[in-house]
This record gives sequence, structure tokens and C-alpha cells, in this order.
Amino acid sequence: MSVDTANRMQSLRTQLRQAGARAMLVSHRPNIFYLTHFTGDNAALLVTPGKAVLFTDPRFTTQARQECGRGVQIVITRKPLLQELGDCLGARGATGRVLFEEDKLSVAQLRQARRAAGSGWAWKGFRGVVEGIREVKDAGELAHMREAARLGSAVMEHAIGMVRAGITEQDLAAEIEYQMRKRGAEGPSFETIVASGERAALPHGRATSKRLREKELVVLDLGVILRGYCSDLTRTVHVGRASAEVRRWYNAVLEAQGAARRAVVAGVEASQVDEAARSVLRREALERYFIHSTGHGLGLEVHERPSLGRGQKALLKAGSVVTIEPGVYLPGRGGIRIEDDVLVLEAGSETLTSVPRELMEL
Ligand code: ZN
Ligand code: ZN
Repeated sequence: MSVDTANRMQSLRTQLRQAGARAMLVSHRPNIFYLTHFTGDNAALLVTPGKAVLFTDPRFTTQARQECGRGVQIVITRKPLLQELGDCLGARGATGRVLFEEDKLSVAQLRQARRAAGSGWAWKGFRGVVEGIREVKDAGELAHMREAARLGSAVMEHAIGMVRAGITEQDLAAEIEYQMRKRGAEGPSFETIVASGERAALPHGRATSKRLREKELVVLDLGVILRGYCSDLTRTVHVGRASAEVRRWYNAVLEAQGAARRAVVAGVEASQVDEAARSVLRREALERYFIHSTGHGLGLEVHERPSLGRGQKALLKAGSVVTIEPGVYLPGRGGIRIEDDVLVLEAGSETLTSVPRELMEL
């Protein structure tokens, strides 16, 4: 097992002990990857105080041996994985409490594992144990995230260069995703958003066959996955000269985004970062058009802890990466969002993405 996965496994075992559990079933893929480096898409992981056992099927025999370190025992099986895992728990005649990820395991899978393990085990659902450990990134993870942010920024610059009246949203999205792969990404971290004109008022507008026109806002939201880690970046540009009104909306969002980024520091309450953005939009009488939270954690998944929304009491931790992405969405008119990826530091923050933020009229 490499040093990083060994450390993570140790943190997890500490939590197991605190929960009075003798075993834990990890079924969520990003969590399995985090703890073992295994990237296969069919696996279950059983962690006990002394062992970590990865269950997968024969397609992944070579891959599992290459990716998992020596601290992980590999079981290749043709049986349903959860049944094999349950058999393994039951076979030792051991008893105790076993934890499972209640938000990541189907009822059928739980039933399978439970039946195979027998009545000696008490199954207890929980959520967020591994995700909590994942919130603070180690140096190796931060290196990957910096690189993912750089790559995402380069693709965004390229995409902005292609914006012109007449091109379709789909063509732009296709070029964006092609450029990601071409430049070394494993793929997009979510379906690329290209939303123009009235459609820009849809916060998650999927690219359609609509053509970009003069005097329209265009929201571009893209992210890459690089070495397992995600970036997430939005810019809004304008085709042709923007009206004074559009310019006012844009500058309000830009100011809100800057205020939120400046509010990021270890120890601050997540809701305060949200309020920093929201108060600027409130002052500009645009708050009611800001219909989502200011940001979210980023890492192996594109949405993870912490959430930067109203009422979020969690304190930001040094070493976690969050997005800062206030926006306004005016039905029938268009929308504006500006999003960057920000690393939380003990003193302040570091913005990982690097694309100019001033209004671009193309
Ligand atoms: Zn985004
Ligand atoms: Zn985002």
C-alpha cells in the first residue's frame, strides 16, 4: 500500500473504532479509489481493523494487482460481489457491527450481503465517513487538482476563442470535450454546459442545436477529470457589444464572485462565503435571480463536501478545494455565472483556475 492510501486507511480505522464497528463495507467507487487506487468499475471493499479486502470480478484481475498496493488483499470472484463479501464476513464466525454507506448501496445489494453474512453481524447505515476524510486533500491530490484546473482553463480559453454568431451550442460542446481528451484529460467531469441567449437563464442548460446569435450571453461551464480529479469552471461571454443593462448584471456577478473568493479562508463558516456573494447581489437588487448556492467542494467528485450555501455551518478546512460560482438567471433574458476553483489556505486562499473574468464581448 502506498503511503497516501495507508494514511487514509488509518484515518478510516480510527473512525471505525469510534463507531464501535468491527468492519466496514465501502461500495462508492470514488471512496474505493481513494482508499486503494483501484479504478475498475465493479468492486466492493471490506475494511476491518487488520485487513482491507477488495472484491472484484475476473475482468479486473490484472488491473487490481497493478493498482492496489500490498496492503490490499484481492478476491476475484464470479459471484455477485456483495454475496462474496457477505460470505467472507460470515465464514470467520465473527460477529459485531458492520457499517455500510446507506446512500451508496442499493436495498438489493444490502440484502445480499446481509443474507450471506448471517445473523452474527449487525448492519448499520451511515454516510459521509470516507467523504469527510476526502475533504482535506494531501499534497499529491493537490498536485493533480492544480493540473486539472490548468487543463480546464486552457480548454476554456480555446472555447472562448471559438465563440461567434452562427456556431451551434452542440458544436462548441463537442469541440470542448474533444480538446479535453486531446490535451490529456480522461474525460469531462460532467456534461459540458453551453447555454446561449434565453437558454443562458437555465443554470444547467445542456448544449442544443441552437445557433449563437448577436447580442446574446453565452454560459460555458466545463470540467475535466485528470488522474481521477475534477475541475469545474464557468465563464459567461457576450456575442457582440453588451447593453448597459447586461453590463450592470455582469459587473454585479463579477463583484459578488470576487467578494466570495476573498471570504475564503480556513475556519470561516461556509455560509459566510455564500453571504459575501449574496450581499453584493442583494445590494444590486439581483438576489432573487441567484437561485443556487455559491459553491461546492471539488475533488474525486465534481460535487463533494463542503457545500457553500445559506445556513451551512461547517467551517472551511485548509487543504480543501471549493468552487466559487455565483450567478444570476433572468427568465426570458439570459444568465450570467462566473466560476473558479479555489484552494482553502490557513491564511486566505489560492485560485487554481486562471481565465480572465472581465466581460468579453466577442
Ligand atoms: Zn460548473
Ligand atoms: Zn460547480
